[in-house]
Amino acid sequence: MTRWWSFRWRMVVVAIVFVVFLTSPGRSQPQTNLLRQTCSPVNATNIPNFFNNLNDTFRDIRRQLSNNNTYFATSELARNSVTVYVMAQCRKYMSTRDCVSCFDFAASSIRSCATLSGARSVLDGCFLRYESISFYTETILPGVNPGICGNSTSSGRNVSKTAVDVFLSSLSIATPKINGLYAAATTSVVGNDTSIAYAIAQCAETLTTDECKSCLEVAYASISICASNDVIDGRAIESGCFMRYSTIPFFRSNQITDIAPFLRDGGSSNKIAIIGGVVGVVGGLIVLLIVVLWWYCRSKRTMPGGSLYGATELQGSKDYNYNDLKKATNDFGDENKLGEGGFGDVYKATFDDEKVVAVKKLKVRHAGAKIGFENEIQLISQIRHRNLLGLLGWCIDGSNLLLVLEYMPNGSLDRFLWGERKGTLSWKIRYDIILGIARGLAHLHKEVHVRIVHRDIKSSNILLDDALQPKIADFGFARFQPEDQSHVITKFVGTLGYTAPEYVRYGILSDKVDTFSFGIVVLEIISGQMCTSQNLDGPSTEFLLEHAWKLYENQKVVMLVDETMDINPDEEKHVKKIIEIALLCTQSPASERPAMSEVVLMLSSEQSSVERHLTRPNLPYLNRRIHIGSS
Ligand code: ATP
Ligand code: MG
Repeated sequence: MTRWWSFRWRMVVVAIVFVVFLTSPGRSQPQTNLLRQTCSPVNATNIPNFFNNLNDTFRDIRRQLSNNNTYFATSELARNSVTVYVMAQCRKYMSTRDCVSCFDFAASSIRSCATLSGARSVLDGCFLRYESISFYTETILPGVNPGICGNSTSSGRNVSKTAVDVFLSSLSIATPKINGLYAAATTSVVGNDTSIAYAIAQCAETLTTDECKSCLEVAYASISICASNDVIDGRAIESGCFMRYSTIPFFRSNQITDIAPFLRDGGSSNKIAIIGGVVGVVGGLIVLLIVVLWWYCRSKRTMPGGSLYGATELQGSKDYNYNDLKKATNDFGDENKLGEGGFGDVYKATFDDEKVVAVKKLKVRHAGAKIGFENEIQLISQIRHRNLLGLLGWCIDGSNLLLVLEYMPNGSLDRFLWGERKGTLSWKIRYDIILGIARGLAHLHKEVHVRIVHRDIKSSNILLDDALQPKIADFGFARFQPEDQSHVITKFVGTLGYTAPEYVRYGILSDKVDTFSFGIVVLEIISGQMCTSQNLDGPSTEFLLEHAWKLYENQKVVMLVDETMDINPDEEKHVKKIIEIALLCTQSPASERPAMSEVVLMLSSEQSSVERHLTRPNLPYLNRRIHIGSS
């Protein structure tokens, strides 16, 4: 009898555990799902000492994570001439026990890299990284890191792309403002049935609010591609942050953060962003859904410039009203003109609510140019990256085609190199600009929906924001040329001096055309000289590229450096390396040039020089300057 009761009790306990296991959202997906593991290509020096230090720091991290409410830990050890830095983080919806198990899993998995000087292991529930140099303030990974998208919604669970996108955008905006740089939120989305999307965003606690913000901007750009593809779950991994969403719950309703207060700007009632975190009560959820939809529809209807604040700013492009743009630009008055280029004139536009944008009035060159314009715009506007100028919307009015773009108060890079602001950029800022341009191009070339070759990379197409961060302008514009075919085109789009020889001569187009132009822009950034300027080095009449190659061959590249820029000996070494990368990018044939993702790696690597043989290209084609507008 006793044995029978004990058996029954055991069965009851098993059944309860089973039910809890099935119904607990936190456990419905394994937290030890390994998303990404990468090992450094560099061997650790003094492996036995490295192992010892690694073991001790891992032990320390485990001890820290075993404390209740500790989800983030760092540990470093400099001993026996070997230094190790370790960082680990658990998602905050995990229990302490699950957090430690996740760490154990990551630690055992990362051991496969342990003879190497660095590695990272990213799991759904936690993250572990070690390096021999400090990385605690790193925000984004080098190169392009597309979101990890799950399956599409074949199950019939309809996910509203826009609502999920807005929701993720809201979460990425709110999280940096929240103590602990973490938020878990959920919202209803519109579909045939009422589905729920769950999401978290988290930054390394060693980041500042601003660093977290810029990291999550990039993560959001990656994950929103999953959302726009009707995918039921997605993740974005960056060095300093992580985002995940799913239509299947992966944390409990009592673990939700109310993000709504962090979406308000200054407390004004009309500045409330449209979607907030929802308290985990079904009634509250429905009420909030109604409010959300009301705000969303209202903001779409009443704001000519798109919604103004918080989350909605990051949505796709909008159809603007021509009269609103006319009014905002003072009837496209000269006093509002920012500049003009091959595609048309650019104006500064200020709406009644003081939102400022730039409006580019496109010249319609062919009757067919408008065909597909809207589709193209929709595609291009989905491309988001902090180094690509955001397309906020468009307007078609009769023969007028207008693009509404983010306004960049510092204007274009050329102003800082040989224009009115020459001499104001330090080497650090110049290097950041170079890296930013490379990142933007790498993203453009790897974009999932529309793989874009810019074709017209030049200093006037690099705009600088308030913080002098670069944003590449005019990407995707060549697509508006009707006779465009994907690989070989008959019409030249670009600016001589910047354009790769195979494209100028034979119209052969590949992403290496942009690599070449990037190399030229880098030389301009370092020298402060325009690429077609012939007044270099006294009586010489050679163009910048030829001049740079000659200096390189004579081991005098440092003479290229802008005389208005003071550099110290360390910076001089760094500048030399970047010039080598620039020259590598200008080699011919195109296959000799690196892809932009490789360029990003080279630029950010610690190596002091480029370990590749450089071949001087044939340069006589640089004699003439043509432009799309003058064909
Ligand atoms: P191209 O037509 O080949 O791109 P371009 O870049 O010189 O040549 P535009 O793109 O029309 O010509 O830009 C003209 C100028 O307008 C730029 O050099 C820049 O100074 C200014 N400008 C363009 N877009 C913006 C913007 N979004 N914010 C601020 N200034 C801008
Ligand atoms: Mg331009």
